[in-house]
Amino acid sequence: MPQIASNSGKSPEISSGQSIALVWHRRDLRIDDNPALSEAIAQVGDQGIVLGVFIFDPDILDDGVTEGSKVDFMLGCLRELQANYRRLGSDLLFMHGQLVNSICELAKAISASHVFFNQDVEPFAIKRDRAATQALQELGIKVQSFIDIGLIAPDAIATQAGEPYKVYTPFWRNWQAKPKPKAFDAPQQLTGLASYENLPVISLPSLRELKFINDIILPKAGEAVAIELLEAFCDGNGILRYQTERDFPAHAGTSTLSPHLRFGTVGIRRVWEKAIAAEQLVRSEEDSTGITTWKQELAWREFYQHVLFYFPELETGAYRPQMRNFPWDDDEEKFVAWCEGRTGYPIVDAAMRQLNQTGWMHNRCRMIVASFLTKDLIINWQWGERYFMQKLLDGDLAANNGGWQWSASSGMDPKPLRIFNPASQARKYDPEGEYILRWLPELQGLTTAELLSGNIPPHQCKKRDYPLPIVDHSVQQQKFKQIYKDCKIT
Ligand code: FAD
Repeated sequence: MPQIASNSGKSPEISSGQSIALVWHRRDLRIDDNPALSEAIAQVGDQGIVLGVFIFDPDILDDGVTEGSKVDFMLGCLRELQANYRRLGSDLLFMHGQLVNSICELAKAISASHVFFNQDVEPFAIKRDRAATQALQELGIKVQSFIDIGLIAPDAIATQAGEPYKVYTPFWRNWQAKPKPKAFDAPQQLTGLASYENLPVISLPSLRELKFINDIILPKAGEAVAIELLEAFCDGNGILRYQTERDFPAHAGTSTLSPHLRFGTVGIRRVWEKAIAAEQLVRSEEDSTGITTWKQELAWREFYQHVLFYFPELETGAYRPQMRNFPWDDDEEKFVAWCEGRTGYPIVDAAMRQLNQTGWMHNRCRMIVASFLTKDLIINWQWGERYFMQKLLDGDLAANNGGWQWSASSGMDPKPLRIFNPASQARKYDPEGEYILRWLPELQGLTTAELLSGNIPPHQCKKRDYPLPIVDHSVQQQKFKQIYKDCKIT
């Protein structure tokens, strides 16, 4: 592990009476539109010190789901965040250790008066934050936390009966009508410590020091590129064409902001502000629908946060009780074929290769491969959920669990039994086979009809070392429907 930065035996220099605030960054790796940072600056005043901290938790790093690609992306975000803190006159400190102990240790070492952080909705994070708040308060340190992960706090929206929502459409109606908070401006300057000696901190570790490797080419990490992506999407035609382009995986029809929203390199209020500003560009009904549809996707994100907040048991299993004992086939060989993109269904395989090679997959394809895993291979959706969490740079418990439960017919979806036919999905959303060929170059030379039929002639498969279909879609969907009926799932 990386070593403590320095250890001269001296204490950090702090002039008496100066307030010192620690901003504990977790999934908000930015200085712009950051409520915890803005509030820290406001509360310590002109003379006060504001420091950032990020803690590497060995339990999270060793959880078996965290992969090198995600850690590498996160390190890129942290590198930029530290550079921003330094540019403004302060610093982002790093620690390695158990989260609650570490934050308390640092707060004591710098005689912090306040600790600020942005809240999360994941059950683990809620528990961690409660424990940290209590431990810090016992040390006499003031703790404040803020809504940041969504525009509307999960507990600030309810049905007319005062209940949590379980259905998206009424949630959206209520959510879109609620006033949204303004973005916070990035700070112009900060005051840091005069000396960072003898603090229980480490320098930013390398991927190797954290015992990870990454073999995929990552998109650029950090706040600057997140803002560039947001502006390119909202100032240009992206958002206006969203409704017509978003379902075609061969097109650059979506924002690709999801890893940035996951790591918080862009603030959600800033994103919303940009979507609203795009309304000035509207020239047609299509443009207007594009913006509304994109806002609806942001609302899906918050819907899943809302339901996870109120139904944390979603993390461990199906929402529908009848689906909890579903007799999945759980064939391990078929699961490996799915993971590796070797099912013999080109649209499924192309999508899985996109995931494995880039850490991202188009939303239409996420729905196709999730339906294929659960309805064609009859494999437990939680296997797929876990694999996605390993591979996706945007892997997020709320959105991923929501997407998988929707696809597996185990969640809150009022129209639960959806089965995607991979061949008709390919014909509709990749009509030229462009996406398929991008990720399955071995299929070059086949006719578009062959690529899209899901029925590549066996001699062509053999010649190209491409697998024959590992299951028959029409047989498997009947089988799934029968089991579903036998389980009396309503
Ligand atoms: P855009 O289309 O530009 O949408 C803008 C933002 O809205 C996205 O960045 C994302 O934050 C949010 N969003 C869009 N669609 C959804 C949705 N259906 N549910 C929740 N939020 C949405 N999204 C994740 O961020 N993390 C995940 O781990 C994740 N796992 C998924 C698993 C399955 C099985 C499915 C079907 C969907 C999953 N999604 C997940 C949702 C969606 O596929 C991605 O958010 C989207 O593809 C990201 O691309 P984008 O940034 O270009 O999105």
